[in-house]
Amino acid sequence: MKILITGGAGFIGSHLCKKFLDRGDRVVCIDNFITGSKENVRGLIGNNNFTLIEHDISKPFVIEEDIDWVLHFAAIASPNDYLAHPIKTLKSGLLGTHNCLGLAKLKKAKFFLASTSEVYGDPLIHPQPEEYWGNVNTIGERSCYDESKRGAEALTYAYHRQHNIEIRIVRIFNTYGPNMQLDDGRVVSNFIVQVLKGKALTIYGKGTQTRSFCFVDDLIEGILKLMDIKYLLPINLGNPSEYTMLELAKKVMEITGLSSKITFFKLPQDDPKRRKPDITKATKILKWKPRIDIDEGLKRTIEYFSKKISLGKKEAV
Ligand code: UDP
Repeated sequence: MKILITGGAGFIGSHLCKKFLDRGDRVVCIDNFITGSKENVRGLIGNNNFTLIEHDISKPFVIEEDIDWVLHFAAIASPNDYLAHPIKTLKSGLLGTHNCLGLAKLKKAKFFLASTSEVYGDPLIHPQPEEYWGNVNTIGERSCYDESKRGAEALTYAYHRQHNIEIRIVRIFNTYGPNMQLDDGRVVSNFIVQVLKGKALTIYGKGTQTRSFCFVDDLIEGILKLMDIKYLLPINLGNPSEYTMLELAKKVMEITGLSSKITFFKLPQDDPKRRKPDITKATKILKWKPRIDIDEGLKRTIEYFSKKISLGKKEAV
């Protein structure tokens, strides 16, 4: 297959590029490196089936060759980053999705949207099934991300209805693992880096808010399964094991065998209080469920981050 993937140098995108290349597909990776990193795809450069194009997908894009799939994974997805770049976040979600859908239409390709659990906002229903319409503050600080993805889903569906484009929409819940940026500000990367560097762990609010963390390999498997079957409605992918941020901090300390102080900061605006995916649909339709538990996933992520940190130290010397 010939697959074009936006955000291909990002955390999830880079895992997908590698997976497709490993099975012999052709991959065109588009990234503007705002939050993605060349480091994530360095090992793929040189593969004849791989092309890396630096481009901001919120600007129109055409490509000569035929494409079977357009996968739109480019997004500014970490709260820290989207708070810093609200307009770029909206542009990649809305204009970027529009450009990708236009490309899919031109190439008669299938279109795959990476959506998010953020479409549910600060949910009033727990766990969150796909039928839940969400609870989003349209003008809050997180709205640039939430509404860009809600708009992206609407655009995707409009193209499906009006132009009969074959689509997939995956709502990705908190995911972690190798290729995350050390400084992207998300809770898993923050806690691991803080504990490895002997710094205090930063907990926002009281730390009683919950998230459910999925290891990236499990997510990738779910995405590939969804590409293989024709299911056109949004579908949740995530790991339903739910933890408070205090529990997560404890786990990171346990697994590293290191201890740090905990410091408490103000809870960001509209920070969801609880989040956990209802994965009944994914389990039934995709015959998928996550296999890697938090202890194993954190162990692998900590190994990756430890290497990155010691490499960084050597480079600094
Ligand atoms: N959080 C925290 N300390 C940090 C970073 C995040 O306590 O250093 C909290 C944050 O307020 C949220 C949860 O951890 O409640 C998950 O945040 P993250 O940025 O990873 O992703 P989100 O699920 O909010 O998109």
